[in-house]
Amino acid sequence: MTNNKNTHVNPFQVAQHQIEHAVEQLGLPQDVYERLKNPDRFMEAAIPVEMDDGKIRVFTGYRAQHNNVLGPYKGGIRFHPEVDADEVKALSIWMTIKCAVAQVPFGGGKGAVACNPQQMSAKEIERLSRRYIWAMSPILGSKVDIPAPDVNTNAQVMAWMADEYSKIRQYNDFGIVTGKPLEVGGCIGREAATGKGLAYVIREAARAKNLSLKNAVIALQGFGKVGSATARFLGKLGCKIIAVTDIFGGVYNKNGLDPEKLSEYCRETGSVKDFPGGTDIGNEELFALDCDILVPAALQNQITAETAPGIKAKIIVEGANGPTTPEADVILKEKNIFVVPDILANSGGVTVSYFEWVQNNYTYYWTEKEIESRLELKMVEAFNHVFAYMNQLENNVTMREAAFMYALQRLAEAMKMRGWCG
Ligand code: GLU
Repeated sequence: MTNNKNTHVNPFQVAQHQIEHAVEQLGLPQDVYERLKNPDRFMEAAIPVEMDDGKIRVFTGYRAQHNNVLGPYKGGIRFHPEVDADEVKALSIWMTIKCAVAQVPFGGGKGAVACNPQQMSAKEIERLSRRYIWAMSPILGSKVDIPAPDVNTNAQVMAWMADEYSKIRQYNDFGIVTGKPLEVGGCIGREAATGKGLAYVIREAARAKNLSLKNAVIALQGFGKVGSATARFLGKLGCKIIAVTDIFGGVYNKNGLDPEKLSEYCRETGSVKDFPGGTDIGNEELFALDCDILVPAALQNQITAETAPGIKAKIIVEGANGPTTPEADVILKEKNIFVVPDILANSGGVTVSYFEWVQNNYTYYWTEKEIESRLELKMVEAFNHVFAYMNQLENNVTMREAAFMYALQRLAEAMKMRGWCG
C-alpha cells in the first residue's frame, strides 16, 4: 500500500490549505485562518515501555488539540509505525471540521504512538496504552479532551486507557475516552458505527445521484474496522462488492464477494488475501476497476495524481481520513466524479462517540434501537445539509469544499461570539 511517506504529500499542509481556501471562499477575516492553521496545543511525549524480554523501549507519543470553540477536543489515537507530528496535526484539524459538519458539540483532537502493534504482544500493547494515557493525562479530561479508537486501536485499548486514567484521578471517569467495551461504559454499536454511518451516506449519495443501490458495483480499499463494517452494511443494502484490498493483498470477483464470509475469513487469517471466493488484485487495479462506487477506507494519500486519472467510479465515498490528495481532487472534479469527503462520510464514528459520552455523563444508557435511529438521523441530516449547502453555492464547488465552508462558517461564528477573532 502506498502512503504519505512515498507520495510526498504533507497532510498538515493539505489541511491548512483546505482551511485557508474555505476562509477565502467565504470571505471571512484572515484571523479566522490564523486562529485555525495550527493546533491550540501539541504535546509530544516519550513513552517508555517494558517489553516482554525485560528491555525498556521508548516510543514517541503525540496529542494534538486543534480547536475547542464548539466543545471539548475529540479524536482518536492511532498506533502506526510511520505516524509523525504533521500527520497527527492534520488529523486533529479534520476532527474539528468533522465535528462541526456532523453537528456534534466537540472540537478536534488526535493522538498517536509511533509503533507497530502487529509486532507487539497484548501485554506490551497494554503497557504502552497505559503509559500513553499517563503521559498525556495533564492535558486530557472528560470535559477537556476525549480520545477514542483509530487505526490499530480498539475497545480493549480504550478500556485500558479509561482504567489508567481512573486510577490517576482515583474515581471512575468513563467519559474520558469513547469506543470502550460495553462492560465499562461503552455504547452499543460503536465499533460498527463508522462503517454503518458510511453505508447511510453511500445510500444518500446514491439517491442524490439517481443511482440504484440494488446491485450497485462497489470497490473497497481497506478491510479493517471501517471497511469490513461498511461491506457488511452495503451487502444488506443489496450492493455488489466486487473487490477488496488490505495491506497484505486483495481479492476480486466480478460476480460479487460475500461480505459476511469475507469478514469471517479475515478474522481467522488476519487478511482478505487468498480468500477462496475470488482472484488476487492490487490497489492500483482496484482503483481502476469499472465500478459505481469506490470506497477508500485505509489510510491517507491513496487517491493521488497517479491513481486518480484511471478511476472509473461515479461516486467516491471516503471512509479513511485524508485518502485523496489535493491534486487528485482537481482531477476527480474534472472527471465529474462525485466525492463525499471523509469529514462528512466517516463521521458516524464520532457521532456514536458523542452518544457514548452523553450516556457516560448521564449514567443512563440507551437501547440499541435508540442509538441506531439517532445515528441514521444524524448521518442523513449531515449529508443533506452539506448537499443542499453545496447546491445553493454558485461557483460549482465540490462536496469537500462545501463541507469545509459549512464547518468554517459555524466555527467562525462561534469564535466571533466568544471574542476569539474578528
Ligand atoms: N477515529 C475516529 C475518527 O477519525 C473517531 C473519533 C472519535 O470517536 O472521537 O473519526
